[in-house]
Amino acid sequence: MPKTEEEKGFVEVINGRYKPRGKFHIIEANQPIFDKDTGKLAGVTNPRDMTYIHSYGGEAIFFESLGKGKLMATRCDNEKCETRGSIYQPFRIACPDCLRKMTVIDMTEKARKTAKIHSFIITHRSGAFNMLAKPIKFINVEFDDVVTILMSYLSVGEPEIGKRVVPIFRTKNPTYTITDLSFVVENTPESDLPEGFSY
Ligand SMILES: [Zn+2]
Repeated sequence: MPKTEEEKGFVEVINGRYKPRGKFHIIEANQPIFDKDTGKLAGVTNPRDMTYIHSYGGEAIFFESLGKGKLMATRCDNEKCETRGSIYQPFRIACPDCLRKMTVIDMTEKARKTAKIHSFIITHRSGAFNMLAKPIKFINVEFDDVVTILMSYLSVGEPEIGKRVVPIFRTKNPTYTITDLSFVVENTPESDLPEGFSY
């Protein structure tokens, strides 16, 4: 059953501190589990509803930018680093080689021009809390000049290794999660994009 406003948990940052408000833990009556053959008690269910506070820290800029139609990456600019100039997507805060904080860069245009399917998998069954339409076309995406591979999902078109894809962004009512970023095959008309998404 969808929760009422009184049953939800909200968080704001005030004076640099998290200020939770509302309900974060909801307990419901448990139920016994009986053995149908013997009539004996086997256990109980434990219904628990919990709102988890997921702090983004230095990655917040990545998720906030998706809702604005931008794909941010990071690049190591440390002159003493052997892998200086390497661009990382997915976004990571520290360089894996020199451990220095990296520079945040906008790679939206690079993604538009160079994104390709590296590999893919089509999933017909998913786990709990899945919010993507099934079958889910998971794709691993490669970009020119980027040293890592991004896991995402293809919203329009059929996946094929090496196929050119273009990023789309949930700019209307963003969820501020990774599902705000998706891909479609090249030359998909804007009218075919999923509800709330744009190029
Ligand atoms: Zn480095």
